Amino acid sequence: MKKRIAILGSTGSIGLQALNVIRNHPDLFEVEVLTAHSNYERLIQQAIEFRPNTVVITNKNHYSKVQDALSAYDIKVFAGDKSMTDVMEMSTIDMVLTAVVGFAGLRPTLRAIEYGKTIALANKETMVVAGKMVTDLARDKGVAILPVDSEHSAIFQSLVGETFNPIHKIFLTASGGPFYGKEVDFLRNVTLADALKHPNWVMGKKVTIDSATLMNKGLEVIEAKWLFNVEVEQIEVVVHPQSIVHSLVEFEDGSIKAQLGLPSMELPIQYAFSYPMRLTSNLPRFNFSDYPQLTFGRPDRDTFQCLDLAYQAIEKGGNMPCIMNAANEIAVQNFIEEKIHFLDIPLIIKAMMENGRFIDKPTLDDLLETDFELRIKTQQWIDNKHN
Ligand code: NDP
Ligand code: MG
Repeated sequence: MKKRIAILGSTGSIGLQALNVIRNHPDLFEVEVLTAHSNYERLIQQAIEFRPNTVVITNKNHYSKVQDALSAYDIKVFAGDKSMTDVMEMSTIDMVLTAVVGFAGLRPTLRAIEYGKTIALANKETMVVAGKMVTDLARDKGVAILPVDSEHSAIFQSLVGETFNPIHKIFLTASGGPFYGKEVDFLRNVTLADALKHPNWVMGKKVTIDSATLMNKGLEVIEAKWLFNVEVEQIEVVVHPQSIVHSLVEFEDGSIKAQLGLPSMELPIQYAFSYPMRLTSNLPRFNFSDYPQLTFGRPDRDTFQCLDLAYQAIEKGGNMPCIMNAANEIAVQNFIEEKIHFLDIPLIIKAMMENGRFIDKPTLDDLLETDFELRIKTQQWIDNKHN
């Protein structure tokens, strides 16, 4: 029987690549649910091609356009955030790919786990804000969370066959982003266009900016802590500008395993879909003569302060990662709208982390409230500073 997959955020960068994987393996996978936020035209096209059971457009303003366009097909159409969460209960879903960006992924992911769906996790923000809640629930429900983030997929692949061998250390590789090796003076003058030019990966705007600030690596340290049940001290960030070694695991005997390949998100997406099997792919193959040197170095934590902010947030625990995440989402949004400067991003996050209402053991409602409050607070702080 085919695996029936729900894709949350099918119109984004990960969503599109996931659909490509399904297109290449129609005998193994089928699309059960697609969701989009504002790109209704793309959602309609995808629905007509893949004929899911259900689509959800979370921005309700576009509901009637989607409904009208799909009225001739046997496809249910819903709108709004609540629907995206509610459809996770459908008994016909086997696996959920969480490819929405940001905090919006939290509620549907929790609901999907509650209903026993295997999770292919791209939406790292969910693990950042609620890693303990998500992993505890998954353990209780016996649900597997399969990483899609390339570094975490590499770690996961390195752990195959190592069930009884504890992890000694994780080396989390980072490309360093477009500003690797640059100093603060240089960063003062960078533009949005500069920050969007990632050397190795083509991704959605938010994660591309997170890569430029190194917040992405901070989020990934937290994601790795929860996914692999290790202490933050066991995770070392290593800058590897070629993005060929996707991450490494060191075991107790000092042996290190890694997963390598050309940078492509289709590979980790496909591996999560087909795990524990490997499927064929027609992606370009690694060639040693193209990469005579693979280099490794330390991140510059003084210049790229977001990485340390993430370490501080996870060390503090409670709702602090949620505070940090909300501040980062709003700061990045403002940077994308060219309302603030690149170097304002860490300053804003730091200020919000110092001012946010700390909760030691947050419930889901506490996290929802923290996220809501901090978004408003961060925007107010930015507006006050820049008016
Ligand atoms: P994109 O911005 O390209 O896509 C985001 C998707 O989420 C779109 O389908 C978008 O819909 C939808 N969306 C946006 N806002 C909301 C919202 N408020 N509610 C519901 N849906 C929403 O992001 P990416 O694909 O780049 O990233 C998705 C996730 O995967 C992120 O968490 C990112 O960190 C992670 N990731 C991405 C990688 C990549 O290579 N892109 C690599 C590793 C991890 P619409 O476009 O219709 O508005
Ligand atoms: Mg990554």
